[in-house]
Amino acid sequence: MSFSSLGLSDALMRAVADTGYTTPTPIQQQAIPAVLNGGDLLAGAQTGTGKTAGFTLPLLHRLSTDAVGSKLTSNNSPRAIRALILTPTRELAAQVEESVRTYGKYTKLNSTVIFGGVGINPQIKQLKHGVDILVATPGRLLDHMEQGTVDLSKIEILVLDEADRMLDMGFIRDIRKVLAKLPPKRQNLLFSATFSDEIKALADGLLNNPATIEVARRNSTSEVIAQKIHPVDRDKKHPLLAHLIKSNNWSQVLVFTRTKHGANKLVEQLGKDGIGAMAIHGNKSQSARTKALSEFKDNKLQVLVATDIAARGIDIDQLPHVVNYDLPNVPEDYVHRIGRTGRAGATGEAVSLVCVDEHDMLKDIEKLIKQTLPRDVIPGFEPDPTARPQPIQLRSGGPGHRNGGSGRQGGAPRNKPAASGNGNSSGNKPRSAGGGGNGNGPRPANGGGNAPRGAQQHRSGGRGR
Ligand code: AMP
Repeated sequence: MSFSSLGLSDALMRAVADTGYTTPTPIQQQAIPAVLNGGDLLAGAQTGTGKTAGFTLPLLHRLSTDAVGSKLTSNNSPRAIRALILTPTRELAAQVEESVRTYGKYTKLNSTVIFGGVGINPQIKQLKHGVDILVATPGRLLDHMEQGTVDLSKIEILVLDEADRMLDMGFIRDIRKVLAKLPPKRQNLLFSATFSDEIKALADGLLNNPATIEVARRNSTSEVIAQKIHPVDRDKKHPLLAHLIKSNNWSQVLVFTRTKHGANKLVEQLGKDGIGAMAIHGNKSQSARTKALSEFKDNKLQVLVATDIAARGIDIDQLPHVVNYDLPNVPEDYVHRIGRTGRAGATGEAVSLVCVDEHDMLKDIEKLIKQTLPRDVIPGFEPDPTARPQPIQLRSGGPGHRNGGSGRQGGAPRNKPAASGNGNSSGNKPRSAGGGGNGNGPRPANGGGNAPRGAQQHRSGGRGR
């Protein structure tokens, strides 16, 4: 199948040709015609499947060919926002908007992105200037709504991208507030990697007779990703990582740590080994995060160390190596992490350095992905068979350590009941490293959204959103 059979406009076909993509991915083959049809869509697809172009291309087509119904405004009246794309994280918002620009460059449509952690005034200016397509994280969008600096009354298409993540991060109340301000007649597209009961409830209330598509989850099908466990002692993880990077000549490695502190420490240690590394996490300023990411993408930086939430949606073509320096405490995050590699048909490798403390986490992950991962002990790094597990530190710092200046997504513990319908088998374990110490952590989930919005406490503190 080729892109030309999908019925996209010439302007969009030119932009696709510029990217060099020749064949639509499975999600694109299904989502593009469904969205062009004008109906609602419920799509099961993870990062790495090509989902962004799957909704961006038909959205641009509908708006630019005016199929949705309203007219492009003349130059002298400000444009009304016609499409709203909500994403859970700033990085993903920025990347989605970059895609909107890439694919929309031969159309007359314009776009902007708004997220927390950066000044609000330039965003207000942008919005005033007039925008057709707005990409936003829910928290900062709400700020604009409350200040009256954004008008959502002309929205024709709404996209919830990575809806499961937005719910995991406690954005449900924010999303509902946004939905309440949208015109009732609109096209709704909901993308989610997983379908918990919470997602199903959201979809039921939001979508009108949706087309439903699902592409294979990377964890069940992705033979292109070679996964491996390196059993190792807790205090040998860093030398083992340095050894793996050097002996295999890895040139571009994404490394996941559980905590921000762990990320910083690892960057320092790798630096001493002569391995260039930078960290992205919630305590880093937005500009530091953007810089690290762009150097990594441009292959100027060998190792990027990230915590889960900061890494959400990182979109790097053909990333060859992902290392779980620590296993994630949420099994689903393992799937999201390894989804960073082997994308769009390229082969990738995901290795996990697992110490005795993490055996239960590994069991949870293997249960979720329905596979036993191969163990590969590296000579010289054999784990001590008599080692006893120690409790795992799930957070970076204690209360009072919370304000890293990074903003809105940080906050209080989720306190979310474990029985949230997403098949997490980790019992009562905290599902995230949130807590007072995680500036990039989730917002309070409120177990269904009725409790007071805990984020209020952040607002007066001058934290960016
Ligand atoms: P996404 O799932 O939207 O995060 O996209 C995953 C990656 O696949 C991105 O790096 C895209 O640039 C790339 N991609 C998207 N569509 C295609 C395509 N049709 N062929 C090859 N690569 C693609």
